[in-house]
Amino acid sequence: MKSTLLSPIQYLKGIGPKRAAKFSKLGINSIEDLLYYFPRRYEDRTKFASIKNLQDGQPQTIKAEVIAGGQRNSWRRRSFSITEALVKDESARISCVWFNRPYLRNYLKPGVKLIIHGKPELRPNGLQMNNPEFEIISEEDELLSAGRIVPVYSLPEGFSQRYFRRLVKQLLDEHLSQVNDCLVYDIRQRNSLLNLAQSLLNIHFPEDLNIQKQAYERLAFEEFFLFQIPLVLRKLKKKEKKGIAQKVSGELLEKFLKRMPFVLTNSQIKVVEEIKNDMARPTAMQRLLQGDVGSGKTVVAVIAAVIANHGGYQAAFMVPTEILAKQHFEKISAQIKELKIGLLVSSIDKKEKQKICQELKEGKINILIGTHALLEEGVQFKNLGLVVIDEQHKFGVGQRALLPQKGINPDCLIMTATPIPRTLAITIYGDLDVSIINELPPGRQPIKTMHFLKKQRLRAYDLVKLELKQGNQAYIVYPVIEESYALDMEGAKEMYQQLSLGAFKEFKLGLIHGKLKQQEQDEIMLKFRNKDLDVLVSTTVLEVGIDNPNATCMVVEEAQRFGLSQLHQLRGRVGRGEKQSFCLLISDAQGQEALARIQAMVEYNDGFKIAEEDLKIRGPGEFFGSRQHGLTELKIGDPLAQMQLLKRAREEGIKLLEHDLHLEMRQNAALREKLLQRFPEYEELVMVG
Ligand code: ADP
Ligand code: MG
Repeated sequence: MKSTLLSPIQYLKGIGPKRAAKFSKLGINSIEDLLYYFPRRYEDRTKFASIKNLQDGQPQTIKAEVIAGGQRNSWRRRSFSITEALVKDESARISCVWFNRPYLRNYLKPGVKLIIHGKPELRPNGLQMNNPEFEIISEEDELLSAGRIVPVYSLPEGFSQRYFRRLVKQLLDEHLSQVNDCLVYDIRQRNSLLNLAQSLLNIHFPEDLNIQKQAYERLAFEEFFLFQIPLVLRKLKKKEKKGIAQKVSGELLEKFLKRMPFVLTNSQIKVVEEIKNDMARPTAMQRLLQGDVGSGKTVVAVIAAVIANHGGYQAAFMVPTEILAKQHFEKISAQIKELKIGLLVSSIDKKEKQKICQELKEGKINILIGTHALLEEGVQFKNLGLVVIDEQHKFGVGQRALLPQKGINPDCLIMTATPIPRTLAITIYGDLDVSIINELPPGRQPIKTMHFLKKQRLRAYDLVKLELKQGNQAYIVYPVIEESYALDMEGAKEMYQQLSLGAFKEFKLGLIHGKLKQQEQDEIMLKFRNKDLDVLVSTTVLEVGIDNPNATCMVVEEAQRFGLSQLHQLRGRVGRGEKQSFCLLISDAQGQEALARIQAMVEYNDGFKIAEEDLKIRGPGEFFGSRQHGLTELKIGDPLAQMQLLKRAREEGIKLLEHDLHLEMRQNAALREKLLQRFPEYEELVMVG
């Protein structure tokens, strides 16, 4: 039987089950997978560096012959071995060494020709390459592995580059004529993209680096396109379904706005308009509201809730922590006395819960605020008209989808304090419309952020004490993570003890952490808010939302253990009033990544800038939580670096689906097939929406 692109590679000549298993670990199961396994980098082997001219510290490629090879064991540790090869080209000699790879000596025999890629380092007796990559070459390889631009793949131990290259080349030769381009001619034409066969050939074996770049761009576009289609489809489907046309003006809203102790910023006004437009439409709002910490998202959400209530609809407000739920509950209850606000969190007793659920079902509660406890089955609304999800990144996609199902296609407002550039947000959260609050309320001063080493800690404390003496309050945050919970908790408690007795003995300190009973947490938070405590020593329970404008100072211990966005969220607990605030990061971190995070904190106050840095440091998969957005499918497309390409792919996706929502036209058959193959859930999306 002739193999097709989808045939498993296991049955190809020379592969068999053992190799197939190794391939499978790389995500390669079919022939097509293998053609889509792209090189990690390329080597220009049309010209090699000569050993004589090698530059210290620069990665370079040489072609050389082994003069002598051997192995020595370290005299200090017998388990440690060094394999060495002395190699030469026409110009000079250089020594190459590999650590702990003793089997290499079997290959590095005199006379063997090698292509070596590595960074030479200057040693007392000349240049040396440590652990360079190398390949043995023979005359028959010249066509694929030398004299051209050569692909280099990430391969597991036991697969040689030469073997893999030959396999790819053979499969390209046999199957390139079968590939079905999922980008139709028009799309390629409009976006100056190569066709699929050209692209696959040139991503593996480019004639020159220019065509390689074109191939790369085309394949990245394809990834973006396939990633966008399901999102765009979901969005268009939602727009087809009937929602609630809300009554967006009314007496209550007027009153509420009049009573407000501040005027809305221009950004807030603009966003409120966008939300009103959405809510007035007879389809459901699906809007993401991005705004930096402290930019005032809550009041915007409350306005939306008041609007929903005009028409007699209920609103649900889901937040990630009980502390935050209670804070919202208290604030909102005080702001709108005309409405009945409910609070539902896990810690309340059963009877109270039953009462709330009853009132909710009867429509007596107008706005229900709570944690994921809102998602429980017993929680039923009379007529849910608006869902607000605050700090969305703290919830899984599944959780976010559950709440709206408690109503009939209610309006949804999803909020995040990790803002990213609009173009990126529109594409990554592709089934949502995007609003941005891009200014802080007037009078806010940028928070001063400083980095201290542990031995400079007392200086940081002095700064804190100065603040406390002026009647301001402070947070001291200690990292406690699930993996080393017991140990971290000890650390946090000990620090609290020490500070209470030592550096801060003339002040009142409180300790709060996630494993305290909810009631105890509440009491401590209340004390802090009432200024009965000067300093709150805390684990990360503070991270989201807590609003106490009198706190002007935050110390973060072991700052390197927090992610960048997390640090920024933490910092957002101060600087919430008009006073100058401080964030003092304490860390002896050495690692490059950790230092980059701390540096970014010191340098930037702006959440957009922070998110961008975080994206660069962690990559999109980690940053967004890959499973949420199909980002794992992106192997070569980089949303941050290729934002414009991503945008174009989205626009083409919209255009295509607007013509052929269910991909039924013949010209879209290849696309449909590819989507079904990549995202099995796509079928369902097409059918049900
Ligand atoms: P976040 O966007 O982080 O959720 P909040 O909604 O908690 O921010 O708002 C932060 C603080 O700013 C709150 O104390 C809020 O009352 C206040 N605030 C919101 N909007 C304004 C405004 N337009 N002018 C002044 N203060 C505002
Ligand atoms: Mg908030």
